[in-house]
Amino acid sequence: MALCDQGYLCDVCGEEVETIDESDLYLRYVLGEVDPETLHVSKERHIRCNPALAQFIAAEGFEPVVAEGLFARSGLDPEFVAAEEARVTRGYLRLLELPGSGLPLTEYPLPEVRARWQDPAVTSAPETTR
Ligand SMILES: [Zn+2]
Repeated sequence: MALCDQGYLCDVCGEEVETIDESDLYLRYVLGEVDPETLHVSKERHIRCNPALAQFIAAEGFEPVVAEGLFARSGLDPEFVAAEEARVTRGYLRLLELPGSGLPLTEYPLPEVRARWQDPAVTSAPETTR
C-alpha cells in the first residue's frame, strides 16, 4: 500500500511527511511503540522532527540527529544508549525496506514485535511437531 496520497502534515514543522522513510509514526509502528489500532489516528511527524528518537539512528545515508536537553543521549546511560541505537537503527533499516516490498501493513513491524502482538505467551514456548 502507499503510505498516503497527501495530507499527512508533520505535527512539529507543519511540512508534509512525504514518504514512509521519513515518518516518525511509522518508525514507531515498526518498533512496536504505536499499535495498529491507533496508527491512523495518531499525529504524524518527520523522523528528524523527533530528535529524542532520531538520535538513536546510526545508518548510512542518515545524517545523525542530535537531541538536546532532557533526552540528549549524552546524558543517558551508555548501555541504554547502545541498546536503543541497535533497536531504533534496526527499525529504521526495516522502514527503508518497506516501500515496494508488497508487505501488508500488519507485517511492517519487527519480527519480535509481531510475535508479541500475536501471542504474548509465544516467546518462550517450545516448538511442537506433529
Ligand atoms: Zn517535521
